[in-house]
Amino acid sequence: MSRFWDMGKHKAWSSRIALPLSIAVSFLASFPAPSQTPAAPSSTPTSAPDQQPHGQVIFSRSTDDSGQTTTTVGPAAPKTAGQPVSAPVATDAEREALTFTAFDLDVHLRPVAEQIAVRALLTVRNDSHTPLAHIPLQISSSLDWETIRLAGRDVAFTVAMLNSDVDHTGQLHEAAVALAAPLAPSATLQLDVTYSGSIPQSAQRLITIGTPDDAALHTDWDSIAIDFTGLRGFGNVVWYPVSSVPVILGDGARVFDEMGEHKLRIAGARFRLRLTDEFPHGQAPTIALINGNRVPLTLTEPSTAGPEVAGIASASLDAASLGFEAPSLFLAVRTAHQAANTTLYTIPDDDSAVEGWASAAAFVTPFLQSWLGQAPRSQLTILDLPDPDDAPFETGPLLVTAVRQATPDELDGVFAHALTHAWMSSPRAWLSEGVAHFMGALWIEKQQGRQKALESLESGRTALALAEPASPGESSGQPLAQAISPVYYRTKATYVFWMLRDLVGDAALSAALRAYSPAEDAAHGLSPTAGSDYFEKLIERAGLRRDLSWFFSDWVDSDKGLPDIAIDSVFPSHTEGDSWLVAVNLTNSGYAAAEIPVTVSNAAASVTQRVIVPARGKATQRILLQGQPAQVQANDGTVPETEASIHIRRLDGGDNTGSSSSQPTPVQQ
Ligand SMILES: [Zn+2]
Repeated sequence: MSRFWDMGKHKAWSSRIALPLSIAVSFLASFPAPSQTPAAPSSTPTSAPDQQPHGQVIFSRSTDDSGQTTTTVGPAAPKTAGQPVSAPVATDAEREALTFTAFDLDVHLRPVAEQIAVRALLTVRNDSHTPLAHIPLQISSSLDWETIRLAGRDVAFTVAMLNSDVDHTGQLHEAAVALAAPLAPSATLQLDVTYSGSIPQSAQRLITIGTPDDAALHTDWDSIAIDFTGLRGFGNVVWYPVSSVPVILGDGARVFDEMGEHKLRIAGARFRLRLTDEFPHGQAPTIALINGNRVPLTLTEPSTAGPEVAGIASASLDAASLGFEAPSLFLAVRTAHQAANTTLYTIPDDDSAVEGWASAAAFVTPFLQSWLGQAPRSQLTILDLPDPDDAPFETGPLLVTAVRQATPDELDGVFAHALTHAWMSSPRAWLSEGVAHFMGALWIEKQQGRQKALESLESGRTALALAEPASPGESSGQPLAQAISPVYYRTKATYVFWMLRDLVGDAALSAALRAYSPAEDAAHGLSPTAGSDYFEKLIERAGLRRDLSWFFSDWVDSDKGLPDIAIDSVFPSHTEGDSWLVAVNLTNSGYAAAEIPVTVSNAAASVTQRVIVPARGKATQRILLQGQPAQVQANDGTVPETEASIHIRRLDGGDNTGSSSSQPTPVQQ
């Protein structure tokens, strides 16, 4: 898959900036929308924004004394607007304290003017231990706050400009509401807010750090336009209110960590969205996606009126709950093409590439069926980006990418990953993205052999080893179950699934993945302290004699870093006839226990046994071999270690170097 992401003429540049950005913003499946029909009347009318007359979207702009331009929508003109302040009123502690637990959004788009107007009912909770004096709410700097209401009353608020690269403009408009009574720890508050503005393409944050304009615009393609509206959410364009600590791209991985933190914080939040799109005559959108889920479009295009009268498209997503994802919105004029478990929505220029993509989907499908079950839970949607060089993006069962000509191998790899998201959705990053990457590695194994698959694992190990704490005391790291960084929920998770495969066998792992239900998992709680009991039990139940709690506790539920295995000593002894008993003493100086394969071999025979080497401990394995042993190997690259993941000891005085393949690099001991 990574080869595919790398394609494009900005390759050198993209490996520095575009690639990390597109990787960091691709993420997890949300729950499939429980209902794809327009909303029934809300059963909790008090929690829904006032019904606005759809189909009468009226934008107006006005400029006040201070030169501030205000955009208003609908018949309800704003009664207050924020007071501009030069320095933010809210503190980082206040920004970090706020957790959004419900979003109820009324979104109006007018693509001909790149405009958006939103009314949002938000529920926020104080997750800190101290009362909150201010409620900070942030949106993209190209949008303006109009009104903020508490308990049905307009309240005064300040608006400050923050520099933060979680938005493509590199800036946020932060409203701060001073509360009459501080919000107590654990208490929640409902806010009714309106904001509007335009979302043209902007690559300001990338241009600021020296990215060439052209390349920057192929990464930051979010915008509202007639043919293609793409709003990827926090990390790309902040089109819904958030509360975040300002971060800049130059500051290491902080933007990406903040993006992961955002997705983890809002996982489980309730999410509703009603969309109204005012499109120019004859240019109706043909596809709408909310949080990666296709939603039906209802079109109202007055046939009797002249071409100057706009049509209205509406769609909604109701009563969904967020997974590990940033809310996203896509609307486009595209032509649909059906493929195996997939619909491609393309621009005319790319119709000729569709056949290759469709045959890749058909080619990969039986492999996914063999692992994940006959039918996927949802269908994969592939949405064609406007420009062939635009960077791909994925969220849940949606892949947004330029549908261009590519080799069958490249496309097969894309589908092995992307289609997995149609089968396996999970609100947990390591289960959603981790399984998709694991299936990608299994596909490489199937097509190119085990060695190539292990190489693909090894290629990510050094970055993982660097990210991992050297000891649990040094830093808390990222327990896989709550991981926010791709190096954990992709690289480490792929290793974890590969190790589970070796621990329980393909059949049991496959059975657990088929039995997995995102709803049941979510019912066990998505809080940052919730563990992975549900998935552990699924695997243990899938026909297993073994207790896997040691493995989950060291590899999933907490971050113990990586093991560090060494062959301490080897004692071969001639028993009877041509038999040799070889005692292999192993140590693990890391803090995570590991079950590794140990192989004793000579030119004629080879015996492999598996042994658990406890954390900070030792293990001895005795292996019987026909003939004099020549070599002992511990680990084969399937268990990621701090230094190297293959250890070889020659016993016959032979050349210790080059005794293994060129990868992963063996350590001679
Ligand atoms: Zn993915």
